[in-house]
Amino acid sequence: MTRPSREARIDPTAIADNVEALRSEVGTAHTMAVVKARGYGHGAVSSARAALSGGADWLGTADIPEALELRRAGITAPVLAWLHGPDADFVTAAEADIDLGISSEPQLDRAAAVSGSTTVQLKVDTGLGRNGVTLAECESLFEKAATLERLGRIRVRGIFSHLANAGDADDAAQLAAFERALAIAEATGLDPELRHLASTAGAIRHPESRFDLVRLGIGIYGLSPFDDESAERLADRGIRLRPAMELSAEVVSTKRVAAGSGVSYGLTYRTAAAATLALVPLGYADGVPRQASGSGPVSIGGRRYRVAGRVAMDQLVVDVGDDPVTAGDRAVLFGDARSGMPSVRDWADAAGTIDYDIVTRIGGRVEFTTT
Ligand SMILES: *Cc1c(COP(=O)(O)O)cnc(C)c1O
Repeated sequence: MTRPSREARIDPTAIADNVEALRSEVGTAHTMAVVKARGYGHGAVSSARAALSGGADWLGTADIPEALELRRAGITAPVLAWLHGPDADFVTAAEADIDLGISSEPQLDRAAAVSGSTTVQLKVDTGLGRNGVTLAECESLFEKAATLERLGRIRVRGIFSHLANAGDADDAAQLAAFERALAIAEATGLDPELRHLASTAGAIRHPESRFDLVRLGIGIYGLSPFDDESAERLADRGIRLRPAMELSAEVVSTKRVAAGSGVSYGLTYRTAAAATLALVPLGYADGVPRQASGSGPVSIGGRRYRVAGRVAMDQLVVDVGDDPVTAGDRAVLFGDARSGMPSVRDWADAAGTIDYDIVTRIGGRVEFTTT
């Protein structure tokens, strides 16, 4: 069978194994697999299924439409969605048995107005400055939630917050704020069964932030949340993660050019000697960051090269020197570093960004396949 011209090959077994590896490292009672943004670009439904088979017992999405997609696919595991605008469809979410992350009093009122009992998890802003009620506001929100719970209008299953991963001192301050919020909740009569704070980074580096559940995103896809520690380094110290995506394309054509030949827009690259140029049909419209022009790594035939000149909308060029590359050869932009491929981290570094940004940006022309 011929491979697609542009291919993102997903390995669901890697996702399942990564969940298992992280679970055995963090050891919390519950594990949420975060599958927002199309499963960090890997496919939401297939990633969710793989994560559940690896032992996750919760799924997390940003918004309600993402959660509903999981339900439409027949996934019955508990799901929490936490990012809602004023018109978000709480009725459909409640009917689909989706827990609503609640970040304000108006949201709490809207959840309570849904007929039947809606299950909510209250979000506290302990310092990230994004979603959630501030510590100053949380007492009144908690009191109202406790009252609504006694009236049978809502069920408060959880209280949660999110770390800024800004360093040990800031994370410790957020942890302390979260513990204050939990004490306030208790004083108002709430007794949530799920208290959660940590995403992948906190789950790995701050055991005291794990509580009852960790929300694992980037790690389940085999990538590291840390600027200063790649997935390969995490594996070296016992947290074995395997990247679940390989991005590749066929070389569509090659040609010989003379020394000093310019390559791609702006002619920012010139061949140092007579060389073969290989044309790869992946560009910034496919998610290849233009910022990695001249530096992004590409592996062809087991050898490592760099993008020559600018990444264009549809294509990039690789100077393969005198190597015998021909049309139809596979050019791998990133995959498993342990089998010699460039990594997502290599591309993130080349583009001045983070692993998350590389995998979530793959464009619509790339075909997704499963190993
Ligand atoms: C995205 C997200 C996560 C997952 O974070 P990772 O760093 O990918 O593990 C967890 N919690 C919330 C609230 C998020 O938005």
